[in-house]
Amino acid sequence: MTSALSWGRTPRVESARECWVADRFQPLPPANEPLLAHGLGRSYGDVALNEGGLLLRTRHLDRFIAFDPGTGVLRAEAGVSLDDIIALALPQGWFLPVTPGTRFVTLGGAVANDVHGKNHHRAGTFGHHVRALELLRSDGQRLHCSATDHPDWLAATLGGLGLTGLITWVELQLVRVRTPALWTVNRRFRNLEEYWQIDAELGARHEYAVAWVDCLGGGRGIYTAADHAAPMKKMPPPPPSARQFRTDPPFSLVNGLTLRAFNQLYYRRPVAAQGLSHLLPFFYPLDGLLQWNRMYGRRGFFQYQCVLPPRR
Ligand SMILES: Cc1cc2nc3c(=O)[nH]c(=O)nc-3n(C[C@H](O)[C@H](O)[C@H](O)COP(=O)(O)OP(=O)(O)OC[C@H]3O[C@@H](n4cnc5c(N)ncnc54)[C@H](O)[C@@H]3O)c2cc1C
Repeated sequence: MTSALSWGRTPRVESARECWVADRFQPLPPANEPLLAHGLGRSYGDVALNEGGLLLRTRHLDRFIAFDPGTGVLRAEAGVSLDDIIALALPQGWFLPVTPGTRFVTLGGAVANDVHGKNHHRAGTFGHHVRALELLRSDGQRLHCSATDHPDWLAATLGGLGLTGLITWVELQLVRVRTPALWTVNRRFRNLEEYWQIDAELGARHEYAVAWVDCLGGGRGIYTAADHAAPMKKMPPPPPSARQFRTDPPFSLVNGLTLRAFNQLYYRRPVAAQGLSHLLPFFYPLDGLLQWNRMYGRRGFFQYQCVLPPRR
């Protein structure tokens, strides 16, 4: 018996068995129970948990298969993380076409949740940049999926939550970047009305757009738009190594009181109207503190995400 956790640390689910998949050429293990892949477990909900079934741990499927630095086409096993891809591709002038707010997710997880990023208004979801993948079905069948081969299986697997089979490898089109830096524009807003005005002005003009909103402070916040920067004499340094949250507090450290205090400091912190930033802290602010999810205590937390229209 093994127990598995989502990133929110609730629910805690007992899986009958788990199996580490380490070789993309091997058949799936024989099983009577339902199979489900589990990457780096960064999903908040229960999509990577498989109560009473067999959990296929994919992180050891970690080989790069091919990379063409001329075209930016990368083929890698599904347990390769976005962090691994950045380490390989960024020094060669390529970056992820779409990236979620953490780089510690696997390629397979990014495909299965069809993740979105700060350039959603321009680039769409991760799946728009997947050229091909291999699907290993629980009946042993292997399907090469692309726009021309099994396109229906490809469509069902992008955002398919692992329910169509095990993705063994993914072929992805990266985007060309000239530097590891971004030119950012920041605007503070006092309420959501102001947010929408700034978004109308800046959103469409920039490749990336994101806002932090203080939901306890009447919808005030900070809007940041960004674009990849051209080479300059003085480039921003990469961020310092991440720190780690090391304890398991018995109760949540995140409550109305601490959140209000944090939000006040965060909103008031000095923010330059514009400037250069290394791309890592822009895309992955939360990766600066590893295992921050433990802050919520043993009972864990739920995260709720939704899409809101500008007007009622
Ligand atoms: C700090 C933080 C910020 C985030 N920001 C964003 C964001 O901005 N945008 C966004 O879209 N998401 C975001 N997420 C969510 C995260 O990007 C997704 O949950 C992602 O799918 C996690 O990948 P994983 O490798 O951890 O997959 P897991 O959580 O392990 O699994 C996710 C799903 O993928 C399936 N899966 C995994 N590997 C395979 C495989 N090889 N074959 C078939 N199915 C597979 C699993 O069965 C499961 O259904 C964020 C998460 C965190 C913790």
